[in-house]
Amino acid sequence: MVDRCYHCRCREAEAYGRENGYSLVRCSKCRLLYVSNPPDPGTISEAARQGIHDGEETFDATGRFRAWRLPILRRRLQRLFPGPDGFEGVGRWLDVGCGHGELLAAVRELAPEVAVRGTEPNERKQESARSRGFDVSFFDLATHEETYDVVSLMNVYSHLPDPPAFLAMVRRLLRPGGRVLLQTGDIGVFEDRTIPKPWYLPDHLSFASEAIVREMLEHGGFEVQRVAKFRYLEPTVPIFAKEAVKFLLPGRPSRLGDLLRGAPEADMHVLARTTDAAS
Ligand SMILES: [Zn+2]
Repeated sequence: MVDRCYHCRCREAEAYGRENGYSLVRCSKCRLLYVSNPPDPGTISEAARQGIHDGEETFDATGRFRAWRLPILRRRLQRLFPGPDGFEGVGRWLDVGCGHGELLAAVRELAPEVAVRGTEPNERKQESARSRGFDVSFFDLATHEETYDVVSLMNVYSHLPDPPAFLAMVRRLLRPGGRVLLQTGDIGVFEDRTIPKPWYLPDHLSFASEAIVREMLEHGGFEVQRVAKFRYLEPTVPIFAKEAVKFLLPGRPSRLGDLLRGAPEADMHVLARTTDAAS
């Protein structure tokens, strides 16, 4: 059992909901949502510690390189690294949990001069990414010796058992003035209604807000440079088709309603720089 919020250390929390036998609770002080009865830490693999969820194989069994995501990722990166000099000073980039390499491909298209690298536990995905010419393998970040100008954590945060400790580890991999790009959901957007299911507990272990992520980064030796939020479901044909199929299948939660109404801008991207930049 987890008896306190990992962010503000408050011990008081209220029940929020249950899924797959796991309880999601809300910290009474900072409003972090976290699983109060997570799996035994001994069963959490190195892959999970890097934020790669076990359930991915189940709901992403036919996974392959999703070329349709590239325009979306390019638009997002252009918001985060704007202008002709957006990638200036970025020499080396590590994407943690890079999958088939979609983000690496988007960075390479926008900034071919950046040396991109990925870590990914799934061997099939590693091969898929390598077949596109990317330097992808799986290694333990805790003992990794190399340093980077950007480390990206896309859809990693919610899977982490201990996000503050993980961010401390990431900071060690950054050169002075290096940046972390952290993408996760912003529960603040859903403050007055329940977050749409499925929550994918316990693959997801917590859900934070912009305020929590900002505070955590600032306590961890980062300064937030830029926050950009996007609809958590982009109205693209593949996403629309996927949600429509789920809507038609009995017992499958579908987010078609949100998609048709225009999903809330809960997909948060935070770019933060280490505070030890040489002056
Ligand atoms: Zn808290």
